[in-house]
Amino acid sequence: MIKKVLKYLGLALVALIAVLAVKTALYKAPNYAPTGRDDLATVNVNVERIVSNMGQAVTFETVAHHLADPLVEGQFLGFLEWIEATYPGVHAVMSREMANLTPIYRWEGKNQDAQPVLMTGHYDVVPAPDAERDRWEHAPFAGVTDAEFVWGRGTIDDKIGVVGLLEAAETLIAGGFQPERTIYFIFGHDEEIGGQKGAGTAVDMLAERGVQMEWSLDEGSMVLDDVLPGLPAPVASINVAEKGYVTLNITAKATGGHSSLPPADTAVGALAVAIERLMANPVPGGLTDASAEFFDSVAPEFGLAERVLFANQWLFRPVLEGILSGSGPTNAMLRTTTAPTMLQASLTENVLPTEAVAVVNFRIHPRDTVESIVAHVETVIDNPNVAVSLRGNPTHPSPVSSAQSEGFQLLAQATLGAFGDVILVPGLTVAGTDSKHFSKISDDSYRFNPMTFGPDDLSRIHGINERVSIADLERAVQFYAQIMMGVDG
Ligand SMILES: [Zn+2]
Repeated sequence: MIKKVLKYLGLALVALIAVLAVKTALYKAPNYAPTGRDDLATVNVNVERIVSNMGQAVTFETVAHHLADPLVEGQFLGFLEWIEATYPGVHAVMSREMANLTPIYRWEGKNQDAQPVLMTGHYDVVPAPDAERDRWEHAPFAGVTDAEFVWGRGTIDDKIGVVGLLEAAETLIAGGFQPERTIYFIFGHDEEIGGQKGAGTAVDMLAERGVQMEWSLDEGSMVLDDVLPGLPAPVASINVAEKGYVTLNITAKATGGHSSLPPADTAVGALAVAIERLMANPVPGGLTDASAEFFDSVAPEFGLAERVLFANQWLFRPVLEGILSGSGPTNAMLRTTTAPTMLQASLTENVLPTEAVAVVNFRIHPRDTVESIVAHVETVIDNPNVAVSLRGNPTHPSPVSSAQSEGFQLLAQATLGAFGDVILVPGLTVAGTDSKHFSKISDDSYRFNPMTFGPDDLSRIHGINERVSIADLERAVQFYAQIMMGVDG
């Protein structure tokens, strides 16, 4: 009897291994590389000029958080004047209007019947706090250039977008080029504080005139080199969606009183339990929709062990989701994230508070909504003495743009043209960008910066020693110029 059972078990195991092996062997990535298109035309990039101009662009301390200070506003006005002086070709050929301190440029195309496209960047930056200045290798607003990099606040985020686009257009205009389609450019001045007055106003102005873009291109991701270990080539993540944003106040109430006679239930105790429950019960998520697209397109490139797991999600999906949820960056791609950021209770050490408040920030995956997050939080906390309320205005997650459109194909082709052999994937931007505004007037919105990022570069975004490589500056101009030349009727 036992022998018979063992025999059947053995057969079942052999069959299972066979199924896993066949599925793994047949597992292929969806191919996002463009098919049936000629190579895009290229330009001769003036590397010396882009490097020098990027260094100068950094010296304007365009810190959006301090815009109320007239001296800081002067830096913004100075930057706009500098653009005018530095890119005369652009200003001779394109029309320009202002949305507050955000310029909107219009480069008229030959084909007036074709739908226009929108290419964007933002020139405001986050602060470089005084307390951290001595940890910068080069002063954040000095615009220092060495043999390999231009250093400084805003090089990555996002003056490379603004300067790269202007360099590409200036180069093409000098050669007498006019695009087939009308191209709009918007250079936001307040992206880092929500983009309402800049991109938001610009979008309202264009929407009022009925301008609708076929696609928009904004910052959002880059070419990731070695960021996902085990891949044979860098991954170019052209992001097709962007997470939303909601912050909740979690408020626990209690009687209060003197700390010498504490009751069993205190506001701080109830709040601590609520936070503990929230962290132990993350918002459900997994390898579906926008998250699946990204991992499905990189997974076949991994080593055998990972391939077996990804190719056999019918069996291993819970295991895989467990592994991916274990690290911050991959967890953020799978689900809405939960981040407690602020706490407030009694102001005095010997007084029990009547109220204790935690502030929790959520980045909303496109599969969720503001309402579904609030419902999840209330269900998980499950305490009538703990209230949940909205703090500020939430931003809904973006629609998911097509990874099959002409626009995506063009961006993919320009990426291959500028960066060579990379794995192309449609990704998800886990932070917020001005695309939340641009998507209102664009059929599809894409988020990608032409830059290479290694594992130690992630901390430079909004961090210390922000810098961009000279090689990437050259590639950025090539990338943008190829798109401008490739946008046909
Ligand atoms: Zn940015």
